[in-house]
Amino acid sequence: MTLITRFAPSPTGLLHLGHAHSALSGWTAARTGGGRFLLRIEDIDPHRCRPGFDAALLEDLAWLGLDWDGPVRRQSQHMDDYAAALARLEDRGVIYPCFCSRKEIAAEIAAAGHAPHGPDGPLYPGLCRHLTADQRQARMARAADGWALRLDVDKAKALAGPLRWFDRARGWQEATPEILGDVVLARKHTPTSYHLSVTVDDALQGITRVTRGEDLFFATHLHRLLQALLDLPVPEWHHHGLLTNEQGERLSKRDGARSLRSLRDAGLPAAAVRAMAGFPPS
Ligand code: GLU
Repeated sequence: MTLITRFAPSPTGLLHLGHAHSALSGWTAARTGGGRFLLRIEDIDPHRCRPGFDAALLEDLAWLGLDWDGPVRRQSQHMDDYAAALARLEDRGVIYPCFCSRKEIAAEIAAAGHAPHGPDGPLYPGLCRHLTADQRQARMARAADGWALRLDVDKAKALAGPLRWFDRARGWQEATPEILGDVVLARKHTPTSYHLSVTVDDALQGITRVTRGEDLFFATHLHRLLQALLDLPVPEWHHHGLLTNEQGERLSKRDGARSLRSLRDAGLPAAAVRAMAGFPPS
């Protein structure tokens, strides 16, 4: 089987050394393993993504010496694919509408005193999970701001049965998507979500090894469940370590000084920047 890896940035800022590390992880694996390396731009959020950053990231990756196979896939041009996946999940009965505002969720969590926590914070307390069909209809009729669609994770897990996934660094993992709770899979203004689109796209693009940072390790439990519900092929995962700044903090887009662009503007050659990103010349 041909190895197919990918880099999937969101154009919400300039690429920094952490992105370079991620891109180089996928690219090096593909180029040294006779495989293919694909580029996907995750631009589903119109409020956070900017066309200027899209153009800048292509230019920065090319300057760094990376090339990719086939056309770049832009998620904003494939909303139909995500709508089809969502409809399939709805058919399977594992999706429910949620009318809660962030404020209502926070108030419910505060009132409960102890809310179960997942890797990304407190879990959704389930206010809308058990509404009756009539109650849902009534809420939909008067929901001026629309509603979100959430995954009923317990129901979905029961339907899919036990699942495992393989991480190249940590080995086989028992899928425990319930640690993330009933995640939102679509919102009114963005009728998909990171979790849904990434799962659909990795399958549609034929990715055999998902290469990304270990900050997304826990998300993989959920992606594995979505794959099972949607009958998608199962790749393996490589969650690489994250680069940190001098203070030991994870690099973020706020570290403007470390953007690839600023390093290039300061006169550093691409080879030096690749070395700073953890890929010295071999
Ligand atoms: N688009 C995500 C990000 O920029 C990465 C998604 C992934 O690699 O799965 O953080």
